Amino acid sequence: MYNVIGNLIVLWREAWLKPLYDSDIGSDFCNFCKRRFNELDFVTSCEFCEIGIIHTTCSDKHILNSHKKEILNKIESQRDRRLHDYQ
Ligand SMILES: [Zn+2]
Ligand SMILES: [Zn+2]
Repeated sequence: MYNVIGNLIVLWREAWLKPLYDSDIGSDFCNFCKRRFNELDFVTSCEFCEIGIIHTTCSDKHILNSHKKEILNKIESQRDRRLHDYQ
């Protein structure tokens, strides 16, 4: 996706476990793949849009497919921040 020769960029998602119950998530289905959540499943939401609760694995696909521009912006802004830290 973001290819500078010789540079690999991976995205660190800071995650922590927070149990959500049916009443919190509003539906039993992932808004991305439309499949029912299992009894224990890893879910998250998209930081770039209001898609709602989706599987963690689905969110990777969703964000890579739908928010490439936002990701690149984010990479750029983090890069600036890191430069400033040294000054
Ligand atoms: Zn899903
Ligand atoms: Zn999104």
